[in-house]
Amino acid sequence: SSWWKNVEPAPKDPILGVTEAFLADPSPDKVNVGVGAYRDDNGKPVVLDCVREAERRIAGTSFMEYLPMGGSVKMVEETLKLAYGDNSEFIKDKRIAAVQSLSGTGACRLFADFQTRFNPGSQIYIPVPTWSNHHNIWRDAQVPQKTYHYYHPETKGLDFKGLMDDVKNAPEGSFFLLHACAHNPTGVDPTEEQWREISQLFKAKNHFAFFDMAYQGFASGDPARDAKSIRIFLEDGHHIGISQSYAKNMGLYGQRVGCLSVLCENEKQAVTVKSQLQQLARPMYSNPPLHGAQIVSTILGDPELKSLWLKEVKVTFPCFMCAHTFDGESYLIKHVESHVVFDNSTKELESDKQIMADRIIGMRTTLRESLEKLGSPLSWEHVTKQIGMFCYSGLTPEQVDRLTSEYHIYMTRNGRISMAGVTTGNVGYLANAIHEVTK
Ligand code: PLP
Repeated sequence: SSWWKNVEPAPKDPILGVTEAFLADPSPDKVNVGVGAYRDDNGKPVVLDCVREAERRIAGTSFMEYLPMGGSVKMVEETLKLAYGDNSEFIKDKRIAAVQSLSGTGACRLFADFQTRFNPGSQIYIPVPTWSNHHNIWRDAQVPQKTYHYYHPETKGLDFKGLMDDVKNAPEGSFFLLHACAHNPTGVDPTEEQWREISQLFKAKNHFAFFDMAYQGFASGDPARDAKSIRIFLEDGHHIGISQSYAKNMGLYGQRVGCLSVLCENEKQAVTVKSQLQQLARPMYSNPPLHGAQIVSTILGDPELKSLWLKEVKVTFPCFMCAHTFDGESYLIKHVESHVVFDNSTKELESDKQIMADRIIGMRTTLRESLEKLGSPLSWEHVTKQIGMFCYSGLTPEQVDRLTSEYHIYMTRNGRISMAGVTTGNVGYLANAIHEVTK
């Protein structure tokens, strides 16, 4: 009809679009080293034992009514403990305005809307690179975006100096988006000492820190340790905001359960801020979904289930981007697009995960050696130096385009290679193609 004649096709999502293109490619040579969170038909998501048990307990309670606008009070309470600490004085003093959110995306969006409404004209500083949806979220909330240096393409590590300079040069009282841990997509996090320096500088500049914590537990296997960045900012007296998600660390992707919190000056302000967060949610989705919140509060509210969860976070997840586990070698074939966290020094993994870890480390070595044998004049040291499942290769968007159009190799245009997609069978082909496009 003519109603929608002005509608143009939306641009493809840079992450999900890669898999779509891969699936559509008939070439027998095709290789997918692209996608993070997407799961194909072969990869079966793992349901954690603690989640199964929680579901068993919930079944039969038949509570189907609306949650309050701010979501499950119990879930939010337990979620805040994870971020702020079990004995947090801010929790005791009721200084945190917090609502259940539609997972991490919903928490970011609600915050962005809150920012525009009560700080109109303010900007958000976003790291380069970042999870691509961050740009969409703040754009749709009509918050102008600035970027700050984060990843150093040459060292393939943190550009600490660039970051600090940008923090220093930003106008006093700017909003910054920080990845609390397990930075997506680089896997590069500041050290504890660097976090302290960042926090001090934020203090001096009176900046606002908004932490996106989508992977608590994934950087170190210990949720408390992964909240270190946040705890440092809290110690230094910052009034921060946090987005939390249970998509990855409980494997509750589709349940859309998370939390947005804003630390306020006192209880009165927290009550006020919370009322406004709810006011933002009401005309959008009225109130958040029930089931995932019940799962989370059942797990975290029961000491036994909670310790089972902590154990599972530590050992069950080999995959950085989602909750897939693997059975031996077949994981590599079944779940090519995901991400595993283990570094070369990890020797405490259970044996099957150790096989996986060794295999990935081996693939890194083979990829690097193959490139060197082909006579590539470039340095590929970072391929073996980086940890985790992703290799942030340094390939340019144009080089990635050539890999795709000429060699049927699929990855996001930021040059991120999922090492899980690299196998003995395709590593030579991949190395050769990379060599050809980087000549
Ligand atoms: N933030 C980051 C950095 C992410 O990588 C993701 C998911 O990939 C999210 C937030 C949000 O995920 P969800 O909305 O599923 O919790």
